[in-house]
Amino acid sequence: MKYVAEFRQPELIHKLAGEIRRTVTKPWTIMEICGGQTHAFMRFGLESLLPPEIELVHGPGCPVCVTPLELIDKAIAIASRPEVIFCSFGDMLRVPGSHADLFRVKAAGGDVRVVYSPLECLKIARQHPNREVVFFAIGFETTAPGNAMLVWQARQQGIRNFSMLVSHVRVPPAITAILSSPGNRVQGFLAAGHVCTVMGYWEYEPLAERFRVPIVVTGFEPVDLLQGLLRTVRQLEAGRHEVENAYERSVTREGNRPAQELIARVFEPCDRTWRGIGLIPDSGWRLRPEFAAFDAENRFPVGDIQTQESSVCISGLVLQGRKKPHECPAFGTSCTPAHPLGATMVSSEGACAAYYRYRRSL
Ligand code: SF4
Repeated sequence: MKYVAEFRQPELIHKLAGEIRRTVTKPWTIMEICGGQTHAFMRFGLESLLPPEIELVHGPGCPVCVTPLELIDKAIAIASRPEVIFCSFGDMLRVPGSHADLFRVKAAGGDVRVVYSPLECLKIARQHPNREVVFFAIGFETTAPGNAMLVWQARQQGIRNFSMLVSHVRVPPAITAILSSPGNRVQGFLAAGHVCTVMGYWEYEPLAERFRVPIVVTGFEPVDLLQGLLRTVRQLEAGRHEVENAYERSVTREGNRPAQELIARVFEPCDRTWRGIGLIPDSGWRLRPEFAAFDAENRFPVGDIQTQESSVCISGLVLQGRKKPHECPAFGTSCTPAHPLGATMVSSEGACAAYYRYRRSL
């Protein structure tokens, strides 16, 4: 099967759902890591086909949602400077910081621009040699190669008026943190196919063994998701805990080695705070010392930012699968996509946004 339509065939979807219903004999809690998977489950109404024994909980795989508040506030401070052209993907503009968001900076006259490819930033930097161009480099392993290439090319081309505010995060330490938590309920994972396209799935094998959980790599179409779920349920019912690949048309065990090598040349692992969750050891990437000149945190004085999180938002619990969005008292009332209190209501991959958009009646 090569085309999207073939992964949305109703007969195949119902056949897989039926197989899941026949396989399940007891309750299982399964987490889809990625917000893209959450949205796909809800967009296609797949949850309604599943037996009541299966509870899907939604993981922290939304880059916009987990970008720490401190970095949002730093982005706002940098973007407010008159010499700066601040470039970002669109979702980040509406994410609430402690007191404002990047849209407000733009409305107040700040030069905040939405880019669709990180490499656009270098063109902007060349066009404006007397300004400072800053890119907000967020995301998981999926976006890291492109952002690494951005810095690499900036150095190759001798572009000195460019820097990045880096907030990269990695999936395996997040899985470790979730499974190590005393409140954990997750018994199996659907791993994100796009992350594994870059990184492969060899990093997940010690986790499956250590925590005795099945981890199945899945894509984002209905058939992909249900195949991944079926393979997870089969493992759970059989008492197995292995890493399986249900997204073979894109993912190999080793992943994209040149992309991994580029990441390793430009970034190094670091501890990273995840918004609403807290510090997860070794869960981030920062620029290596040889690229320190491209680090916006070195170039601008933003070290003493004091953050203030919303007292209402429970997105940290949502991102760890411990609460559902509709269990938040603010859901759909004081928190909506038009007036979000938390990043999970803003992002196109956020769980709160998915519940609002597709399951508003819950
Ligand atoms: S509904 Fe809004 S306030 Fe509640 S967890 Fe989601 S983003 Fe936070």
